[in-house]
Amino acid sequence: MGKFKLKLSFLIVGMAIMVMLVTSSVSIWSSYRSFYEISSMTEDDLQNLTKNTSTMGQTANNNVVSFSLFFKKSIIPIIILTAVLLAFVIGFALKIVQPLKVLTTAIERGEGIQKVGAWYYEAHVLKKNVQNMMICSESKIKDLTNQLNLDALTGIPNRRQMDQTLYELIINKVPHAIILIDLDNFKHINDTYGHTVGDEVLKGFAHHMQERTQEQGMCFRYGGEEFLIILPLGTIEDAVELAENLRIKQALQETVCGKPVTMSAGITAFTPNIQSPNQLIEIADHALYKAKRSGRNCICVVKNMRQMIIK
Ligand code: GH3
Ligand code: MG
Ligand code: MG
Repeated sequence: MGKFKLKLSFLIVGMAIMVMLVTSSVSIWSSYRSFYEISSMTEDDLQNLTKNTSTMGQTANNNVVSFSLFFKKSIIPIIILTAVLLAFVIGFALKIVQPLKVLTTAIERGEGIQKVGAWYYEAHVLKKNVQNMMICSESKIKDLTNQLNLDALTGIPNRRQMDQTLYELIINKVPHAIILIDLDNFKHINDTYGHTVGDEVLKGFAHHMQERTQEQGMCFRYGGEEFLIILPLGTIEDAVELAENLRIKQALQETVCGKPVTMSAGITAFTPNIQSPNQLIEIADHALYKAKRSGRNCICVVKNMRQMIIK
């Protein structure tokens, strides 16, 4: 349904009011003049007027109006008309303001604006534009939040997101296992093939890791050539199985530099005495260090404070 345009309606209502006011003014003016002419005549004038011309006498008699009659006939209807017009104008103004008021309140409270009854064109356009702006800014905030939590090079969640995820699991005491991964001799890849090739190896590994992990866990870039996998509700055994699978594939698969780039990993799981992500990562890091010391391309598991190397 087409919306009603305020500008046009103001023009129509304004013209109607003007016509009413002009008509009322003319009618007051003519009533006042006839009242004034008659009331300014002297007794003699009136008598002469009545004697001399019977027709004129008749007219004068008809035109003789008392002030109260003039008031009753002209002023009261005009006062009533003005009051009705005023009530109409105030009612109309309140009705115009109403959608703007509801819109402002909804925006202030951060509520949806669907309920705003935009009954005229301008309010309808304003509501549509505000709605579009809200949708637009919501999606921009979503995009920015996503970018904030994603690693720019590999496109997987970054350390910020990783810390948040681990923190939530730990404070809610959700059992989980983690795999801390470090690519072996990565400095050598950069030095031999260049940083750009190194970047491609990192991207390829991130993709491979996500493909292998699937729904089982969440992958993050911890920093540099280090990555972390969290297995919510997963056990050490689940983590070992996944890490071994990944390690073996990585050791066999050729990368962009024309040869495989192996990985080492440290594995541990949450225990109720763990209070922060750093504590858990420290244990995994210690295990990773052991794996490196054991010759790389292997994993080290920390379970019940005991370490075990798997090659
Ligand atoms: P290790 O087996 O003991 O882990 O040896 P490594 O050479 O992998 O470890 P090291 O810490 O000596 O070197 C890590 C290298 O990773 C050095 C750094 O330049 C490289 N690196 C870190 N971040 C990036 C990155 O975003 N892109 C590239 N191309 N290289 C990176
Ligand atoms: Mg490293
Ligand atoms: Mg390394």
